[in-house]
Amino acid sequence: MKRIGVLTSGGDAPGMNAAIRAVVRTGINKGWEVIGIQHGYSGLVNNDVTLMGARDVSGIIQQGGTILGSSRCPEFETEQGRRKALRTLEEQAIEALVVIGGNGSQTGAHALYQMGFPVVGVASTIDNDLCGSEITIGVDTALDVALQAIDQLKVTASSHHRAFIVEVMGRDCGYLALVTGITGGAEYIVIPEFETDAEDVVNAIRTAYERGKAHALIVVAEGAKYNARGLEHYLSEHHEALGFDLRITTLGYVQRGGSPGAFDRLLATRLGAAATGYIAEGKFGVLAGLNKGQITPTPLSEVVTGKKPLDLDLLRLSETLNL
Ligand code: ADP
Repeated sequence: MKRIGVLTSGGDAPGMNAAIRAVVRTGINKGWEVIGIQHGYSGLVNNDVTLMGARDVSGIIQQGGTILGSSRCPEFETEQGRRKALRTLEEQAIEALVVIGGNGSQTGAHALYQMGFPVVGVASTIDNDLCGSEITIGVDTALDVALQAIDQLKVTASSHHRAFIVEVMGRDCGYLALVTGITGGAEYIVIPEFETDAEDVVNAIRTAYERGKAHALIVVAEGAKYNARGLEHYLSEHHEALGFDLRITTLGYVQRGGSPGAFDRLLATRLGAAATGYIAEGKFGVLAGLNKGQITPTPLSEVVTGKKPLDLDLLRLSETLNL
């Protein structure tokens, strides 16, 4: 092995830079050249690559986002697009590729592996919806950013005796909402994995009001039927039943932009190092992930076909706490 490539793809996540740094430096330590592919799969399709030295990844471990850039590249989803990507890999004499990203990106990595190219994935998405890693790069920091916003909203909500609904990201997965809700002290949590009625939300706010609470917090997942938009109309028609005055906030992309905390920096560093370790061992078509405290390889074929279960005991726990 002389030359490997690395790319970041799909939704950016805090800690991607720490993973790039780990891949570049552990690769150089093994005596390889490391090629950075720009803007995810679109850099592969369009031959947009740069040689990366140890100094090119200096001072990035604390930065959110990704210095390589990321993108969504529909062309790569076609066989013709992937053939172009394979041509780039051949022209650049890249012998193995590390793909840092979430579900879509690992599906792309698996497709490339099935076409015969040696690929290793690194589990990175704030949504925590990727099989093969109990927690993925960026989740912990995204949770902290959401919590910081919620803690601040609570201060103003208490002063004005308000209820507030906060929508957090997570695509179709309720993990971010569930954990933000529990750790933010929410009265009620709405996630896609558990059916909720808009009326349940009204009841939760009303109950908090009748218990004499200074405010009520409802955390909703963007992928739930009753997300911020889904609730807006119903709640405006039932505002008198709430007791509280109501505000709705969507946190949106701020959750991606935080500086990675210690957990994400360490996880990204360990996963990036594991990826080059697997390449050195000739172990391809796997995802480097964290399971039971250990970094483990899971076949991409399992990663892309599985559905990660959500621990609904946490939802029940949250219900016992909001007295
Ligand atoms: P994430 O990795 O964060 O889940 P996306 O779902 O947007 O992000 O996927 C990122 C990119 O991965 C897509 O733009 C596309 O280039 C590639 N990709 C997604 N699905 C497939 C697929 N079925 N086959 C090949 N490539 C795919």
